[in-house]
Amino acid sequence: MALVNFKQMLRIARSGGYAVAAFNPVDYASMRAMVEAAEEIDAPLIMQTSAKTIRYYGHEPLASWYKQLAGESPVPVTLHLDHGKDLDMIKKCIETGWTSVMIDASDRPFEENLEITKQVYDMATAGGLAIEAEIGEIGGVEEDIIVAEEDAHLANPDEAERFCKEFDLGVFAAAIGTAHGYYHGEPKVAFDLIEEIYQRTQTPMALHGGTGLDEETIARCISLGCAKVNISTNLKHIFVDSFAQYHVDHPKDYEPLKVLGAQFEAMKELFRAKMTEFGGAGKGAAMLGEIQKQSV
Ligand SMILES: [Zn+2]
Repeated sequence: MALVNFKQMLRIARSGGYAVAAFNPVDYASMRAMVEAAEEIDAPLIMQTSAKTIRYYGHEPLASWYKQLAGESPVPVTLHLDHGKDLDMIKKCIETGWTSVMIDASDRPFEENLEITKQVYDMATAGGLAIEAEIGEIGGVEEDIIVAEEDAHLANPDEAERFCKEFDLGVFAAAIGTAHGYYHGEPKVAFDLIEEIYQRTQTPMALHGGTGLDEETIARCISLGCAKVNISTNLKHIFVDSFAQYHVDHPKDYEPLKVLGAQFEAMKELFRAKMTEFGGAGKGAAMLGEIQKQSV
Protein backbone atom coordinates (compact mmCIF):
# COMPACT_ATOMS: atom_id res chain seq x y z
CA MET A 1 0.00 0.00 0.00
CA ALA A 2 1.45 3.28 -1.03
CA LEU A 3 -1.14 5.38 0.81
CA VAL A 4 0.91 6.16 3.88
CA ASN A 5 0.93 8.11 7.11
CA PHE A 6 1.91 11.72 6.58
CA LYS A 7 3.67 12.06 9.92
CA GLN A 8 5.88 9.04 9.31
CA MET A 9 6.62 10.32 5.80
CA LEU A 10 7.83 13.69 7.01
CA ARG A 11 9.83 12.37 9.97
CA ILE A 12 11.71 10.06 7.59
CA ALA A 13 12.33 12.89 5.11
CA ARG A 14 13.57 15.16 7.88
CA SER A 15 15.98 12.61 9.26
CA GLY A 16 17.22 11.96 5.73
CA GLY A 17 17.87 15.70 5.24
CA TYR A 18 15.51 16.20 2.32
CA ALA A 19 11.96 17.49 1.76
CA VAL A 20 8.86 16.02 0.16
CA ALA A 21 7.28 18.18 -2.55
CA ALA A 22 3.61 19.00 -2.03
CA PHE A 23 1.65 19.93 -5.15
CA ASN A 24 -1.97 21.10 -5.43
CA PRO A 25 -3.73 19.11 -8.19
CA VAL A 26 -6.35 20.93 -10.22
CA ASP A 27 -7.88 17.94 -12.02
CA TYR A 28 -7.49 14.20 -12.58
CA ALA A 29 -4.70 14.59 -15.14
CA SER A 30 -2.57 16.76 -12.87
CA MET A 31 -2.95 14.14 -10.14
CA ARG A 32 -1.97 11.39 -12.54
CA ALA A 33 1.00 13.43 -13.80
CA MET A 34 2.36 13.93 -10.28
CA VAL A 35 2.11 10.24 -9.42
CA GLU A 36 3.77 9.22 -12.72
CA ALA A 37 6.54 11.77 -12.18
CA ALA A 38 7.12 10.52 -8.63
CA GLU A 39 7.30 6.92 -9.84
CA GLU A 40 9.70 7.77 -12.67
CA ILE A 41 12.25 9.26 -10.29
CA ASP A 42 11.37 7.11 -7.24
CA ALA A 43 10.31 10.03 -5.04
CA PRO A 44 7.76 10.35 -2.22
CA LEU A 45 4.88 12.70 -2.97
CA ILE A 46 2.27 14.80 -1.15
CA MET A 47 -0.82 15.68 -3.14
CA GLN A 48 -2.62 18.43 -1.36
CA THR A 49 -6.02 19.65 -2.31
CA SER A 50 -7.04 23.22 -1.71
CA ALA A 51 -10.50 23.86 -0.25
CA LYS A 52 -11.42 25.50 -3.55
CA THR A 53 -10.67 22.29 -5.46
CA ILE A 54 -12.77 20.24 -3.03
CA ARG A 55 -15.67 22.66 -3.45
CA TYR A 56 -15.35 22.31 -7.23
CA TYR A 57 -15.26 18.49 -7.51
CA GLY A 58 -16.58 17.27 -4.16
CA HIS A 59 -14.70 15.00 -1.75
CA GLU A 60 -15.55 11.62 -3.28
CA PRO A 61 -14.10 12.03 -6.79
CA LEU A 62 -10.81 13.41 -5.43
CA ALA A 63 -10.49 10.61 -2.87
CA SER A 64 -11.25 7.95 -5.46
CA TRP A 65 -8.74 9.37 -7.97
CA TYR A 66 -6.13 9.32 -5.24
CA LYS A 67 -6.84 5.71 -4.32
CA GLN A 68 -6.88 4.60 -7.91
CA LEU A 69 -3.69 6.42 -8.89
CA ALA A 70 -1.61 5.92 -5.76
CA GLY A 71 -3.06 2.83 -4.08
CA GLU A 72 -0.66 0.37 -5.68
CA SER A 73 2.17 2.77 -6.38
CA PRO A 74 5.73 1.70 -5.54
CA VAL A 75 6.33 5.14 -3.98
CA PRO A 76 4.62 6.62 -0.89
CA VAL A 77 1.89 9.16 -1.65
CA THR A 78 -0.30 11.07 0.80
CA LEU A 79 -3.50 13.04 0.26
CA HIS A 80 -3.44 16.20 2.33
CA LEU A 81 -5.84 19.10 2.78
CA ASP A 82 -4.07 22.44 2.30
CA HIS A 83 -5.18 25.42 4.45
CA GLY A 84 -8.36 23.88 5.88
CA LYS A 85 -10.56 26.42 7.61
CA ASP A 86 -14.00 24.84 7.48
CA LEU A 87 -14.51 22.16 10.14
CA ASP A 88 -17.27 20.40 8.15
CA MET A 89 -15.01 20.14 5.13
CA ILE A 90 -12.19 18.81 7.32
CA LYS A 91 -14.48 16.25 8.92
CA LYS A 92 -15.52 14.99 5.50
CA CYS A 93 -11.88 14.73 4.41
CA ILE A 94 -11.25 12.51 7.43
CA GLU A 95 -14.23 10.35 6.53
CA THR A 96 -13.57 10.03 2.81
CA GLY A 97 -9.91 9.02 2.71
CA TRP A 98 -7.52 11.96 3.14
CA THR A 99 -4.40 10.85 5.00
CA SER A 100 -3.80 14.24 6.68
CA VAL A 101 -5.36 17.67 7.02
CA MET A 102 -4.14 21.16 7.66
CA ILE A 103 -6.05 23.41 10.00
CA ASP A 104 -5.25 27.03 9.37
CA ALA A 105 -6.58 29.24 12.16
CA SER A 106 -3.55 31.50 11.93
CA ASP A 107 -5.70 34.58 11.37
CA ARG A 108 -7.13 34.17 14.90
CA PRO A 109 -5.50 35.26 18.15
CA PHE A 110 -3.07 32.64 19.45
CA GLU A 111 -5.32 31.20 22.19
CA GLU A 112 -8.20 30.82 19.74
CA ASN A 113 -5.87 29.21 17.23
CA LEU A 114 -4.89 26.69 19.91
CA GLU A 115 -8.53 25.92 20.63
CA ILE A 116 -9.57 25.42 17.00
CA THR A 117 -6.46 23.39 16.27
CA LYS A 118 -7.29 21.18 19.25
CA GLN A 119 -10.71 20.39 17.84
CA VAL A 120 -9.21 19.31 14.53
CA TYR A 121 -6.33 17.52 16.20
CA ASP A 122 -8.69 15.38 18.28
CA MET A 123 -10.94 14.64 15.33
CA ALA A 124 -8.03 13.76 13.01
CA THR A 125 -5.99 11.67 15.42
CA ALA A 126 -9.11 9.66 16.32
CA GLY A 127 -9.33 8.79 12.62
CA GLY A 128 -5.61 7.94 12.43
CA LEU A 129 -4.69 11.08 10.46
CA ALA A 130 -1.83 13.50 11.06
CA ILE A 131 -2.26 17.25 10.97
CA GLU A 132 -0.49 20.39 9.86
CA ALA A 133 -1.23 23.62 11.72
CA GLU A 134 -0.06 27.20 11.31
CA ILE A 135 1.00 30.10 13.50
CA GLY A 136 2.02 33.57 12.44
CA GLU A 137 0.49 34.81 9.22
CA ILE A 138 1.87 33.97 5.77
CA GLY A 139 1.45 36.81 3.28
CA GLY A 140 -0.01 36.67 -0.23
CA VAL A 141 -3.18 35.19 -1.70
CA GLU A 142 -4.46 31.82 -0.52
CA GLU A 143 -8.00 30.60 -1.17
CA ASP A 144 -9.11 34.07 -2.29
CA ILE A 145 -8.05 35.45 1.09
CA ILE A 146 -5.50 38.19 0.67
CA VAL A 147 -3.05 38.76 3.49
CA ALA A 148 -1.48 42.14 2.77
CA GLU A 149 2.24 42.52 3.31
CA GLU A 150 1.70 44.78 6.31
CA ASP A 151 -0.63 42.21 7.95
CA ALA A 152 1.65 39.24 7.44
CA HIS A 153 3.67 38.57 10.54
CA LEU A 154 6.32 36.08 11.51
CA ALA A 155 5.75 33.29 13.99
CA ASN A 156 6.79 33.88 17.60
CA PRO A 157 9.24 31.16 18.74
CA ASP A 158 7.78 30.99 22.29
CA GLU A 159 4.33 30.43 20.84
CA ALA A 160 5.77 27.90 18.41
CA GLU A 161 7.23 25.92 21.27
CA ARG A 162 4.00 26.00 23.24
CA PHE A 163 2.00 24.99 20.17
CA CYS A 164 4.18 21.97 19.40
CA LYS A 165 4.16 20.86 23.05
CA GLU A 166 0.38 20.86 22.90
CA PHE A 167 0.16 18.90 19.64
CA ASP A 168 2.20 16.11 18.10
CA LEU A 169 1.97 17.59 14.61
CA GLY A 170 2.73 15.84 11.34
CA VAL A 171 4.27 19.08 10.14
CA PHE A 172 4.36 22.62 11.48
CA ALA A 173 3.64 25.66 9.33
CA ALA A 174 5.18 28.69 10.97
CA ALA A 175 5.27 31.98 9.09
CA ILE A 176 8.97 32.52 8.41
CA GLY A 177 8.87 35.24 5.77
CA THR A 178 7.76 33.38 2.64
CA ALA A 179 4.56 34.35 0.82
CA HIS A 180 1.92 32.70 -1.36
CA GLY A 181 1.87 33.51 -5.09
CA TYR A 182 4.73 35.09 -7.03
CA TYR A 183 7.09 37.32 -5.10
CA HIS A 184 7.22 41.01 -5.78
CA GLY A 185 10.80 41.87 -4.98
CA GLU A 186 13.22 39.79 -2.95
CA PRO A 187 11.61 37.37 -0.50
CA LYS A 188 12.90 37.91 3.02
CA VAL A 189 13.21 34.44 4.49
CA ALA A 190 13.99 34.45 8.23
CA PHE A 191 16.52 31.60 8.29
CA ASP A 192 17.38 32.23 11.97
CA LEU A 193 13.74 31.84 12.88
CA ILE A 194 13.44 28.50 11.04
CA GLU A 195 16.49 27.27 12.88
CA GLU A 196 15.30 28.47 16.28
CA ILE A 197 11.77 27.08 15.86
CA TYR A 198 12.99 23.73 14.63
CA GLN A 199 15.54 23.42 17.41
CA ARG A 200 12.93 24.24 20.04
CA THR A 201 10.07 22.14 18.61
CA GLN A 202 11.87 19.23 16.89
CA THR A 203 8.86 19.14 14.55
CA PRO A 204 9.46 19.02 10.78
CA MET A 205 8.40 22.31 9.22
CA ALA A 206 6.40 23.11 6.09
CA LEU A 207 7.70 25.71 3.67
CA HIS A 208 4.69 27.53 2.22
CA GLY A 209 5.05 29.75 -0.82
CA GLY A 210 7.76 27.64 -2.46
CA THR A 211 7.06 29.03 -5.95
CA GLY A 212 9.63 31.65 -6.85
CA LEU A 213 12.17 30.83 -4.14
CA ASP A 214 15.57 30.06 -5.62
CA GLU A 215 17.25 26.69 -5.17
CA GLU A 216 19.78 27.96 -2.67
CA THR A 217 17.12 29.47 -0.41
CA ILE A 218 15.05 26.28 -0.47
CA ALA A 219 18.10 24.10 0.20
CA ARG A 220 18.95 26.25 3.21
CA CYS A 221 15.39 26.02 4.56
CA ILE A 222 15.51 22.22 4.17
CA SER A 223 18.85 22.00 5.94
CA LEU A 224 17.45 24.00 8.88
CA GLY A 225 14.23 22.04 9.44
CA CYS A 226 11.77 22.13 6.52
CA ALA A 227 10.62 18.70 5.32
CA LYS A 228 7.68 19.72 3.12
CA VAL A 229 7.84 22.30 0.34
CA ASN A 230 4.59 23.57 -1.17
CA ILE A 231 4.37 24.35 -4.87
CA SER A 232 1.03 25.63 -6.13
CA THR A 233 1.33 28.83 -8.15
CA ASN A 234 3.97 27.30 -10.42
CA LEU A 235 1.61 24.51 -11.44
CA LYS A 236 -1.27 26.88 -12.13
CA HIS A 237 0.87 28.78 -14.61
CA ILE A 238 2.25 25.70 -16.35
CA PHE A 239 -1.24 24.21 -16.56
CA VAL A 240 -2.64 27.22 -18.43
CA ASP A 241 0.47 28.24 -20.39
CA SER A 242 1.25 24.76 -21.77
CA PHE A 243 -2.31 24.37 -23.02
CA ALA A 244 -2.29 27.80 -24.68
CA GLN A 245 1.21 27.34 -26.09
CA TYR A 246 0.23 24.13 -27.88
CA HIS A 247 -2.43 26.02 -29.76
CA VAL A 248 -0.02 28.82 -30.65
CA ASP A 249 2.47 26.24 -31.99
CA HIS A 250 -0.18 24.10 -33.76
CA PRO A 251 -2.99 26.51 -34.70
CA LYS A 252 -4.73 23.99 -36.99
CA ASP A 253 -4.64 21.04 -34.61
CA TYR A 254 -7.98 20.56 -32.89
CA GLU A 255 -7.29 17.10 -31.48
CA PRO A 256 -8.00 17.61 -27.76
CA LEU A 257 -5.97 14.60 -26.65
CA LYS A 258 -2.85 16.06 -28.24
CA VAL A 259 -3.35 19.33 -26.40
CA LEU A 260 -3.92 17.49 -23.15
CA GLY A 261 -0.87 15.33 -23.85
CA ALA A 262 1.35 18.39 -24.21
CA GLN A 263 -0.06 19.82 -21.01
CA PHE A 264 0.48 16.51 -19.22
CA GLU A 265 4.15 16.33 -20.22
CA ALA A 266 4.75 19.94 -19.18
CA MET A 267 3.26 19.26 -15.74
CA LYS A 268 5.33 16.12 -15.31
CA GLU A 269 8.48 18.03 -16.13
CA LEU A 270 7.73 20.56 -13.39
CA PHE A 271 6.98 17.83 -10.84
CA ARG A 272 10.14 15.88 -11.61
CA ALA A 273 12.26 19.01 -11.41
CA LYS A 274 10.86 20.13 -8.04
CA MET A 275 10.98 16.70 -6.41
CA THR A 276 14.58 16.35 -7.55
CA GLU A 277 15.46 19.86 -6.35
CA PHE A 278 14.12 19.14 -2.85
CA GLY A 279 16.17 15.93 -2.61
CA GLY A 280 13.36 13.38 -2.93
CA ALA A 281 14.58 11.57 -6.07
CA GLY A 282 15.67 7.99 -5.36
CA LYS A 283 14.06 8.03 -1.87
CA GLY A 284 10.55 6.72 -2.57
CA ALA A 285 10.81 2.93 -2.39
CA ALA A 286 13.21 3.09 0.57
CA MET A 287 10.81 5.36 2.46
CA LEU A 288 7.90 3.07 1.74
CA GLY A 289 9.91 0.11 3.02
CA GLU A 290 10.76 1.96 6.20
CA ILE A 291 7.14 2.98 6.81
CA GLN A 292 6.01 -0.60 6.33
CA LYS A 293 8.69 -1.78 8.77
CA GLN A 294 7.63 0.82 11.38
CA SER A 295 3.99 -0.15 10.98
CA VAL A 296 4.51 -3.85 11.73
ZN1 LIG B 1 0.21 27.84 2.10
